[in-house]
This record gives sequence, C-alpha cells and structure tokens, in this order.
Amino acid sequence: MSTSLSSQFLIRFWGVRGSIPAPGKSTLRYGGNTSCIELCIGGRRLIFDGGTGLRSLCKTLKDSDPFRGFMFFTHYHWDHIQGVPFFTPIFSDNCHLTVYGNHTNTGDPVEKHFTERILRDSAPLMQGEVKAKLEFNDLYPGEKIVIDGDIEIRTGQLNHPNGAMGYRVTWGDKTVVYATDTEHLPDRLDENILELADGADMLVYDAMYTDEEYHNPRSSKVGWGHSTWQEGAKLAEAAGVERFVVFHHEPNHSDDVLDAIEIELKSRSKHFFIAREGMEVVV
Ligand SMILES: [Zn+2]
Ligand SMILES: [Zn+2]
Repeated sequence: MSTSLSSQFLIRFWGVRGSIPAPGKSTLRYGGNTSCIELCIGGRRLIFDGGTGLRSLCKTLKDSDPFRGFMFFTHYHWDHIQGVPFFTPIFSDNCHLTVYGNHTNTGDPVEKHFTERILRDSAPLMQGEVKAKLEFNDLYPGEKIVIDGDIEIRTGQLNHPNGAMGYRVTWGDKTVVYATDTEHLPDRLDENILELADGADMLVYDAMYTDEEYHNPRSSKVGWGHSTWQEGAKLAEAAGVERFVVFHHEPNHSDDVLDAIEIELKSRSKHFFIAREGMEVVV
C-alpha cells in the first residue's frame, strides 16, 4: 500500500444509473451502468451496492491479487444487486468479503438475499463455485458501527417501497453520505436524511427526476420511491452539506438531458454536480 493511498479518502462512481441499465449512444458520457460506488478509505475498499457498475470495478482488479473488502447494500432491488454474480473475487479463495445489509420489510437477513436470491436463484452458478470467505452482518436503520478500527458508519431509514437504508461514513474529519433509493416527503424535509447528512462533506442522493417530471400530471412519479435533484439540493442546503451529488439517474435521461440539469445545478451552487461513471473524487 502506498503512503498516498493509506492517507486518502476517495469516492469512485462505477455505476450511476437507476432502475435498469441504459447502454447506448445517448448515455456514453454519464454511463449506463446501475448503482455501485466505492469508497477507498486509507487503503481499505468499501463498496456500496452491487449494480452492474460492480463489473467495471472488477475489471480494475488482477485475478492473482488477494482481495479484502467490505460491501454494503441499501436494499435488494435489481439495479443494486445485478453485478454481484459477476464480481470475480468471490470465485477466489484469496478473497475475504464482509457483507452488510439491511433487514428489509420481508424480514430476511442479508445472507439469504446474497447467497440464495442473488447467487443461487438468479445466476448460473454451480454449487461450490463461490470460494471466497464471506461474512454477513445485518444492520438496522439508526445503528452505529466501526469497521476496521477507525471507519465509523451510521445507518438511516430511507423512504422506498419495501425499505432501503442510507449510510453515513466517517473517517477522521471527513464524511460521505450515500442515500439512495429514497423519495422526499410531500410536506417537509426528511428528518432521517437531514440527520444522516448533517454537516457532511458529500451527499450522494437519489435525484432520479426533475421536479417537473415528478409532478407531471400525465405521468406523475409520486409514490415511486425516488426523489428529484431540486429536493436533494434543499436537503443538502438545510443539512449544511459541502458537496451535493446527483445520482441514480433516470434511464431515459440522455447525456444532453443531464448536461442541462448540470447547468441548473451549477447555477445554484458550484459545489453541486452530477455523478458520472468512472469519476473519482477526493473527499
Ligand atoms: Zn435503485
Ligand atoms: Zn429501489
């Protein structure tokens, strides 16, 4: 591990799209892969969600290298799990992965989702192919844990069909909050996210729609479990967040649509930006 890596807190965006992958000419610049981000914290790897972006992360790894990582799930909708059977380290006995996830409204633990639903029922894997050392930990909204000695993690309830959980990750004096998927509340700012994001350096937020799309009377998105960039910006400002990141892009939002949103975002604050696949940011 180099000295620089051991002292850095980086965020990498491997998949930034919501709901379903959106490959094609119109999404080349922002990317079509679904939700997956990586926090590199003092040389440790923390992966949040395993959408199809997880495969891009894999491509940066060498088969021969041992892999040690921590993986966190917000929930188990397809766009957050589909890359997991293609996450090559799990086929190596030189991999140690500690998996965290929320106890969803179904009451099933993360281990059942990971080993039975994701790997056994939804992927063409043979028994015994997964050789990694896997550990599972169920988390509940409102929990606080410390991993690997000095990385503090707090969880918070999100507003999403069947439940989802956001994460606040603090290392030293730096904090990143990952809050997707979630729908804003009609009458007030969501206190769970305000608390989670309080004073954070960065908030990565489910800003799938624009306000206009969300409220469009002919195709309203009310009740679909996702929010808008305008509502996210309000939350970020109220919580005193330094940098607000628009994430979980609508699959029909082309690069041109996202460019137009970015212009509006930047006119509101130069610290607001749109997540792009492959982007790496120092926290
Ligand atoms: Zn999603
Ligand atoms: Zn979802």
